[in-house]
Amino acid sequence: MSQPSKEPTIPSDGEPIRCVEGQLRVPDRPIIPFIEGDGTGPDIWRAAKLVIETAVEKAYGGARSICWAQLYAADKSLELFGEWVPQETIEAIRTFRVAIKGPLTTPVGGGNRSANVTLRQVLDLYACVRPVFWVPGVPCPVKHPERLDVVVFRENTEDVYAGVEFAQGTAEADKLRRFLDLELGAKLPPDSGIGIKPISRTACRRLMRMALRYALEHGRRSLTLMHKGNIMKFTEGAFRDWCYELAAEEFGSVTVTESELYDKCGGRLPPGKLLVKDRIADAMFQQILLRPDEYDIIVTPNLNGDYISDAAAAQVGGLGIAPGGNIGDGLALFEATHGTAPKYAGQDKVNPSSLILSGRMMLEYMGWREAADTILLGLKATVAAGTVTYDLERQMEGATLLKCSEFARAICEKM
Ligand code: NAP
Repeated sequence: MSQPSKEPTIPSDGEPIRCVEGQLRVPDRPIIPFIEGDGTGPDIWRAAKLVIETAVEKAYGGARSICWAQLYAADKSLELFGEWVPQETIEAIRTFRVAIKGPLTTPVGGGNRSANVTLRQVLDLYACVRPVFWVPGVPCPVKHPERLDVVVFRENTEDVYAGVEFAQGTAEADKLRRFLDLELGAKLPPDSGIGIKPISRTACRRLMRMALRYALEHGRRSLTLMHKGNIMKFTEGAFRDWCYELAAEEFGSVTVTESELYDKCGGRLPPGKLLVKDRIADAMFQQILLRPDEYDIIVTPNLNGDYISDAAAAQVGGLGIAPGGNIGDGLALFEATHGTAPKYAGQDKVNPSSLILSGRMMLEYMGWREAADTILLGLKATVAAGTVTYDLERQMEGATLLKCSEFARAICEKM
């Protein structure tokens, strides 16, 4: 085996994915960097790689295949190279444009910053995209999980992810508190920690543009802006206004707002049009439980997005299997949405579905739709047959317990 290197080993027969005038150009043998991840990462990566490769082979019969290039970050990178997120890893993702990763350790409290957050921010992957739908057979807490089929577009660079915070009792917090008091007349308790919540017009507009394009390309019927603008008028309220503004300016001929729907269209959405509406964040949590089929694409600032994507995934029993992608302009990093589950590391035990379905998202993003569909078919058939990993098996009556690698092989057989 070759020595691990910070520089990815580039397969000689592969070609990079390019981006021309905002459109991806994917060759038949694209080079795709991967980070297998920490803890259970290597187990689920092996499983996901097998499923992705098999789906591509079944869909294109050898005419297309992926040339993988390994990258490192977090625990493994620290151990091998003494670096948390090597510059080579960042540059390789930038160069090759589409990458996939397993979960990475995030130290709690001090120490290294989250490698996940670093990658998202340095590469300006400004949308965290999380499709949430039910895989029939997966145990879940609601009566009609099949009614929820949403894609959450969560802003990935601002709001609480801006990370502008000052701890209580520090000179910085005191200085800021005095400034707010003396210069702006805003009084805060003297023992306050202070966080800043920036939300910019530019970030809102580009997120909305990406979500609208996705909604239209995928034939979705509605897009909902989820915000707390009734209270935070100049951040969350402005988010809503800027998103509506962008929709009207750039997509006016193909979108309809809720007031237009009732005032001009008699309450019926004209064919081929997309409904753009907004909901207050707290109401949104009720709405997805009580009227899930009225929601389709959800666009939201960072913190709301964190909550709603996990709540929606839990609703369909899929918190451990939900996929995700961090997407920028012509650049994307797909990832398992759960953590490293370190207590199961190396046991070939955990469920690889989150990374497998993230691989499906990746193929869809590359325009390899047939392979993406093949993965979903195989996964659904495997779960429907009751052949599942421990996390599902313990909740499903009469199910057969499979190891992580066996589950991956079962998916390949059922494709
Ligand atoms: P976690 O790794 O997600 O594990 C929590 C529990 O979730 C596990 O004990 C297990 O439940 C279940 N679980 C997670 N992945 C599973 C899988 N693939 N299949 C089946 N069950 C699964 O959360 P954590 O223990 O809080 O975090 C561990 C480390 O991961 C931390 O360093 C954290 O910061 C990091 N993390 C990374 C990411 C990322 O890279 N995107 C995301 C979240 C957390 P049972 O015990 O019930 O079996």
